Amino acid sequence: MKSAQKCILIIGAGGVGNVVARKCALLPDVFGRIVLASRTLSKCEAIASAVGDGRIETMCVDADNVPELITLMQAVKPFMVINVALPYQDLTIMEACLICGVHYLDTANYEPPDEAHFEYSWQWAFRERFADAGLMALLGCGFDPGVTGIFSAHAAKHHFDEMHYLDIVDCNAGDHGKAFATNFNPEINIREITQVGRFWQEGKWKTTAPLSVHQSVDYPQVGERDSYLLYHEELESLVLNFPTLKRARFWMTFGPAYLNALNVLQEIGMTSIEPIMFNGQLIQPLQFLKAVLPEPASLAENYVGQTSIGCQIRGLKDGRERTYFVYNNCDHAAAFREVGSQAISYTTGVPAMIGAMLMLQNTWFRPGVWNVEQFDPDPFMAALNAHGLGWHEIIDGPLAFNDLLD
Ligand code: NDP
Repeated sequence: MKSAQKCILIIGAGGVGNVVARKCALLPDVFGRIVLASRTLSKCEAIASAVGDGRIETMCVDADNVPELITLMQAVKPFMVINVALPYQDLTIMEACLICGVHYLDTANYEPPDEAHFEYSWQWAFRERFADAGLMALLGCGFDPGVTGIFSAHAAKHHFDEMHYLDIVDCNAGDHGKAFATNFNPEINIREITQVGRFWQEGKWKTTAPLSVHQSVDYPQVGERDSYLLYHEELESLVLNFPTLKRARFWMTFGPAYLNALNVLQEIGMTSIEPIMFNGQLIQPLQFLKAVLPEPASLAENYVGQTSIGCQIRGLKDGRERTYFVYNNCDHAAAFREVGSQAISYTTGVPAMIGAMLMLQNTWFRPGVWNVEQFDPDPFMAALNAHGLGWHEIIDGPLAFNDLLD
């Protein structure tokens, strides 16, 4: 018998929505009823039909529209929403959750459509309202943000008395065979990597010109890859939640062909979010670019190679200097065989499913608005191993980060 308590509403039917829906469908004891809603109904239907057995119900919603969301939530009566639409919809969905008494989880911080920010302020401002309503919102429960925060919490709990230096290293060594494509929503991805670089040092944010700082990092089972210093949203909550950190940085790999294409697109104005008049209509060049680029979900079929993402940490344990590296490698082709997705969607969708599972099971449950590192990492780390994202750790071993620039 399907319990009303176990009903889950997934919003967003892109690359990540596909993985969340399929992974939830594998766990009928946890996720009794699954409703998948998105702007384009046919995308929900394609996922539901791939899963089969009527396991997934589908609905259409414009998640920019609070009254529409309320109508949907009142009809479905879910325990919680897993928001894997776009960061633009975070606030409207949180608002509707408050009105309908529904818990909330997402994988990316709210972004205003007309300005790139990558900050939690808008969502943290919901803290009191969620707490007063006895509702929980879990923010940034993908891989990065998400597992990188859980890796950090695991390191703090089990391996350090004080963490001092954190480097998050994110490598996609996969090849999808396309001239230029982004692995998740192109608008958000291009906004993220073309912004000013930022890292935390001695209590202050330091800035760098976009993609101006880079160096080679040796990734497990992948090898040396040029890695670029970027600002990434989890840094904001990690430096608050682990105040002993003297420095926190984020590095991501890009190949020369990708950077070349990005440079050209930037130079001709195609990555701008400033609206321009086109055929009597205001359009954002970046939104138009998204429309001509491949959908992230469509890259999956012939994608080969691996992602390798982890946290390299230095600090003190029992009065001694300690080095620690915790990471996951995920294979694109294996993700495709399992759930018809590429590894970027897989490494985001699996943690979102796990976060929802822990909330449903009351293992991670506290009214208010939280980032993942504020919970006990142990059940999450165990679930990563059980649900397809096995992790490895190297304690006091030789680490690539020892060579990272200071
Ligand atoms: P996609 O672009 O593939 O999918 C986005 C989905 O959201 C589409 O189905 C889209 O519908 C739907 N959507 C967009 N606007 C609305 C709206 N107004 N109402 C209802 N549905 C809407 O993106 P991904 O699946 O790759 O990414 C999903 C989320 O995951 C993003 O927020 C992204 O930033 C985040 N992410 C997080 C990562 C992490 O590690 N934390 C890594 C990768 C992604 P339509 O098809 O009609 O456009």
